[in-house]
Amino acid sequence: VGSSVVIDDILDSLRRRGLRMTPQRRAIVTEILELHGHISAGEVAERVQKRIPGVNASTVYRTLALLEDVGVLSHAHFERGVEYHRSEDASHVHLVCAHCGAHDSLTTAEIKPLERLVRKHHGFLPDLTHFAISGTCRNCQTRAGG
Ligand SMILES: [Zn+2]
Ligand SMILES: [Zn+2]
Ligand SMILES: [Zn+2]
Repeated sequence: VGSSVVIDDILDSLRRRGLRMTPQRRAIVTEILELHGHISAGEVAERVQKRIPGVNASTVYRTLALLEDVGVLSHAHFERGVEYHRSEDASHVHLVCAHCGAHDSLTTAEIKPLERLVRKHHGFLPDLTHFAISGTCRNCQTRAGG
């Protein structure tokens, strides 16, 4: 019941932007509401195509951009490209191992000291959540004998 209220709110805000509510768009929004973690536009298109065969990939891309405009989604950059989170799940920093691809994340509380340091020394308030941090995970460091 809760999620049907949410989906109607989202569909309303898209309608207010003059977007016609087609079954494709409804399917896209449904996928987004079931989302945990992050997903690329290509993966959303794949999933929606399973529900509604033949859905146009550009419809998926446009709808995701609009969902970002109305504040439902936020994007972040990874080595393999842009991915989307539900906005309420977006406040964390991604750590991605450049060797094995393992993912980890930092909470916004954990990154506060780094944010403060950058701000203090450069007068710059960084948005550390926007790009993933690339590096070497613990396992890969152990394997390398370091
Ligand atoms: Zn994430
Ligand atoms: Zn960006
Ligand atoms: Zn690794």
